[in-house]
Amino acid sequence: MSMYGKLVEAAEDVYAYIQGRGEWFASNTGLVVGEKYAVVVDSVCSESRAREAIEKFREVTNKDFRILINTHGHPDHVWTNHMFDAVTIAHEEARNETATAFVEIYQSLFPELDFSGAKITPQDVTFKKTMALHIGEELKIVHPGVAHTKGDCYVYLPQKKVVFCGDLLFANPCTPFAMGGSIRGSIKALKELLDLDAEVYIPGHGELAGKEHVEDAIKYFEFVWEEAKKRHEKGMSWYEATMDIDLGEYRKWNESERIVGNVARAYAEIEGRELEFAEVLDVARKMLGFER
Ligand SMILES: [Zn+2]
Repeated sequence: MSMYGKLVEAAEDVYAYIQGRGEWFASNTGLVVGEKYAVVVDSVCSESRAREAIEKFREVTNKDFRILINTHGHPDHVWTNHMFDAVTIAHEEARNETATAFVEIYQSLFPELDFSGAKITPQDVTFKKTMALHIGEELKIVHPGVAHTKGDCYVYLPQKKVVFCGDLLFANPCTPFAMGGSIRGSIKALKELLDLDAEVYIPGHGELAGKEHVEDAIKYFEFVWEEAKKRHEKGMSWYEATMDIDLGEYRKWNESERIVGNVARAYAEIEGRELEFAEVLDVARKMLGFER
C-alpha cells in the first residue's frame, strides 16, 4: 500500500516517485534505468518514505542503484542517501549544505513531521559547473548558479527530452521557494530550463510538469522581486513588506506562506548581503506561523 507517493513514467526507463501534493518535505525522487545499472536522483527525508520509494523502483527494475545524484543539499533530498548504497554526487556547495543541515533544527521547525532514520551523509563526489554520466544515454548534470540554494543542479536527458529540476522548479500549485538562494538567480535558472529542448519537467515538488509550469514559476518570482523592490524603496522593513503584499492569485497556491522567506531573500539581495543563521531561523519561524 502506498502511504506517501506514486511512481510515474516520464519517458522510457525514466521514472519519478511523486510524493503527496508536494507539501513541505514531500519531495520527488527520480530513477533512470541505464544499460548496466540504475541512477537515482535525490533521496527523501525519512526511512519509511525511502523504503516506499525503493519498493516502487523495484517494481520497474532489479538493477543496482549504483549512482545517486543530489539536486541540492536540502534535507528532503539527501537525508536517506545511505539507504541507496550508491556513490553520491552533488555540487560542492550542496555538499556543504548537506553536512550542516542538522535534524534537530528542522525537527524544531516542523515538530509534526517524522524524520525517523534521517542521516547526514555528505556526498562522495562533487563538481563545480557541469558533469555528465554515460549509462547508455547521456545525463547532463548542470549547476545553473545560485538559485533555490547555492548548490543546485538539474539533470537533463537530451535523448528523452526530460529534465529532473530538483527544487529549481516547484510545479504550480506548489509555491516556489528561494529563501536559501536567490530570487533573481531562480528566474535566471528557470529561463535556462525553459530554453532546453525538453518536454517533461520533473519538479522537486508537485506533479510532472511542462514548459507552462516553468513559465508560471518565473512569473511568481518576478512578482516577488517587483513587489519587494517597490516596498524596499518606500523604506518598509522586509516583514512589513511581506504583510503588505497582496498575493492575489498566488494566495490559492499551496504553501503560500513561502512569500515570507522569499521576500526576506529578495531584501537581502537588494541590500547585497547574506542572511545570517539567526535571521534565517527567525524568518523560518515567522514563515511557518510561529510568531504570527
Ligand atoms: Zn529544496
